[in-house]
Amino acid sequence: MEVICKAKDFGRFFKNPVLTLGNFDGVHLGHQRIFQQVRRKAQEIGGESIAYTFAPHPVQLLKPEKEPFLLLPISERIRLIGETGMDVTICAPFTQEFASLTAEEFVRDILHRQIGVRQIYVGQNTSFGRGRTGSVALLKELGERYGFAVEAMEAVEVKGTLISSSRIRRLIRGGNIPGATELLGRPPLLVGEVIRGFGRGGKKLGFPTANLKIEKVLVPKPGIYAVWAICGGQKFPGVANLGWNPTFQDGKFSIEVHILNFNKDIYGQTLRLEFVERQRDEVTFRSPEELITQIKKDVEQAKRILGVV
Ligand code: ADP
Ligand code: MG
Repeated sequence: MEVICKAKDFGRFFKNPVLTLGNFDGVHLGHQRIFQQVRRKAQEIGGESIAYTFAPHPVQLLKPEKEPFLLLPISERIRLIGETGMDVTICAPFTQEFASLTAEEFVRDILHRQIGVRQIYVGQNTSFGRGRTGSVALLKELGERYGFAVEAMEAVEVKGTLISSSRIRRLIRGGNIPGATELLGRPPLLVGEVIRGFGRGGKKLGFPTANLKIEKVLVPKPGIYAVWAICGGQKFPGVANLGWNPTFQDGKFSIEVHILNFNKDIYGQTLRLEFVERQRDEVTFRSPEELITQIKKDVEQAKRILGVV
């Protein structure tokens, strides 16, 4: 997939572009359904399928003090869009200047003049442009003027509930991983760089944990989780701990994973965690020994959850 991180002046011609527009946070089943439709249409008319998205998220620009709520950092959003088979992702830098474009200017100057869009697929309640005044109705009106077709897609339901990023956020905040997985069509994940912690996992407890530094995203409810840890293109079973390590009273929130049957220095590497199930709350133990006994049980339980021996 080609990735273009510019709002305009793409420097190339797009062939019969079929496009969808949105934040696509989470790249959930509903988004995946739209991408599928876009690709199908592009194939039909011999065109290119384009996902048009923005970063940072408008709320991050307009209200930076708000606590992290995004499901994915932008790099993962783009990677997952690529996995759906789209030809191009345009990731427009969401600047004050960009935010000041009216819906009509955005459609005319960018979608029509710069991209030459032929067909647009959007969700029913899409809104865009300054003051979020752009709607499906406006797109259709402008489509007639500029010569592109617009189709609003039904929201996707799973077991009678509508899929939305906010619903998935609630499930992840509550630690309901299987619930979130069902709506995402893939496991919830966190990605980060392996950094140094206090160095006690391996030495003191006999369970080294790779500590992750992540971008500002929503983190599942603190606790112990069975996960798959992906590092250097390989996938390993693991037990993750999201929390404050109350037994040691550092007062510092950390995201750590003990990778099973693994013994390598991976400081500085990128690690991706796919969450499978929440195992328990984080609790304060009276001694490191009690903690070690519990970690051994956690490891056995994680193996059962992940189906490894
Ligand atoms: P720190 O406090 O710096 O995280 P740890 O004692 O927890 O130190 O050790 C973690 C480091 O050990 C990891 O960053 C990784 O490089 C290495 N390591 C070796 N084996 C494992 C394993 N099985 N799981 C996680 N990390 C491991
Ligand atoms: Mg550690």
